[in-house]
Amino acid sequence: MTIAASRRDAEILDQNDPLASFRDLFHLPDGIIYLDGNSLGPMAKSVPGLVEDALERQWATDLITSWNTAGWWELPLTLGEKIAPLIGAGTGQTVVTDSTSINLYKTVQAALELSPGRKVIISESDSFPTDLYILEGVMGETGLSRRLIGEDGAGLDQHLSDDVAVVLLSNVNYRSGALMDMAEVARKVHDAGAIMVWDLCHSAGVIPMELDAWNVDFAVGCTYKYLNGGPGAPAFIYAAKRHHDAIRQPLSGWWGHGAPFEFETRFRPASGVRAFLCGTQPIISMTALSAALDVYGEVDIGEVRKKSMALTGLFIDLVEKFCPQLGVVSPRDANSRASQVALSHEHGYAIVQALIARGVIGDFRAPDILRFGFAPLFIRYADVWDAVGHLREIMDTGAWDNAEFKQRAAVT
Ligand SMILES: *Cc1c(COP(=O)(O)O)cnc(C)c1O
Repeated sequence: MTIAASRRDAEILDQNDPLASFRDLFHLPDGIIYLDGNSLGPMAKSVPGLVEDALERQWATDLITSWNTAGWWELPLTLGEKIAPLIGAGTGQTVVTDSTSINLYKTVQAALELSPGRKVIISESDSFPTDLYILEGVMGETGLSRRLIGEDGAGLDQHLSDDVAVVLLSNVNYRSGALMDMAEVARKVHDAGAIMVWDLCHSAGVIPMELDAWNVDFAVGCTYKYLNGGPGAPAFIYAAKRHHDAIRQPLSGWWGHGAPFEFETRFRPASGVRAFLCGTQPIISMTALSAALDVYGEVDIGEVRKKSMALTGLFIDLVEKFCPQLGVVSPRDANSRASQVALSHEHGYAIVQALIARGVIGDFRAPDILRFGFAPLFIRYADVWDAVGHLREIMDTGAWDNAEFKQRAAVT
C-alpha cells in the first residue's frame, strides 16, 4: 500500500509535513529536484552572510586578532558541540577537523593503541573505498592484517576472535543504503574485546544515533553530505570520554599539543578530543559549516527519520509500479534502510544523465547503481512523485539511449 496514489496525495502529505518549513532555509535552484543531498548537501541561505562576515570583518579588518576575538581557535570544538546532539554524544567528545579520510587514519591508529598485542583489523569488503585504502596504509605501517566481512556485516560473528584489535564499519552501505544495527554490532565487538570505529558519513543528520549509550569508542563522519557544510567542509571525530586520557594518534601536530603556544620542543598531547587536531584549520570553510549546522539546531532528528522512511518508501513503491525495467537494490524494510535508494540497470549511468538533463539530480555508482538521496529537510513528497514521473518517461521512451548521456565525466 503506497502512501500516495496520486500527485494530489503527495501534495497533501507535504501540507501536513512538520518539517516543511525547513526547505525555505536552503538555496535550491528552480526546476531542480535535488536527490543528491547525500553526496553534497545544498547551501543554506544563511551561509553567504556568515562567510562574508568572516571575510570582510574577521579577516580583512580584524586580521590576526580574530583567532581570539572571532573564536577561530575554538571553532573545531564549537562545531563539534553542534554535531554532538545529532549523534547522541554528550559534550566534549566531538571535534571538527580535517577530512574523513585523514580522520579515519587518526582514529584507527588511536584505536590500535588501545588494543596492544592484537593483530587484526576487521572491515567490510563493500566499504566506501577510502576506508579500505586508509586501512591498507595503516597495515603497511603496523604490519597488522585485515579480515573483510561481507556486505552489511555478514560474517562478523565468525571473524570476531580474540586477536581482533579494531572493527571499522560504515553503518550505511554507500551504494545500497542498507543500514546496520549499530547498537548490536558495537555490543558484539566489545564482547570480543575489540575497539569499534564507525564511519557515519551517510547517516549523520538523518539517522538517530546514541553513540554514548551504545558505548561506541570512536566515530568519524562527513559534514558536506546531509549536514550541508559545503564542498570539502571538514569532517568530525567522536571519541568516547573513557578513552580521553589515552588518545595517541600519529599526526601529532601542534594543534593537538597540550599547550601549543608554549612552543615546546617535545610533543605532549592535549587532553580529550583536541588530541585529534593536527594543524591549522580551514576557517572560511568552517564558517560555512557553522551556518549549516545552525539549521540543524532546530531539527527533530526523529521527525527527519520518519520522513526519510516515508520518502524512500514512496519512491520504491512508485518505481516498482511505474518503472519495472529497474531493479530495487535497497532494503524494502524501512528499518533496514538509510535515507537513500539504489536502483540497478546495466545502462544506469546513461539513465542518470538523462534524468539530470531533465533537472532530476541523482548519481551513479559503478558498476550499475543509480543512487538517489532523500534529504528530508528539503525534499517534498511531490518531488518524489515528479522524479519517478521523469524516470518512467525516460525508461518508456528509451530517451537515455543517446550518445550524449553515455560520455563518462570524471565525477559520476
Ligand atoms: C563520502 C564518504 C567518505 C569521504 O571521505 P573524504 O575524506 O571526505 O573524501 C568517506 N567514507 C564514506 C563512507 C563516505 O561516504
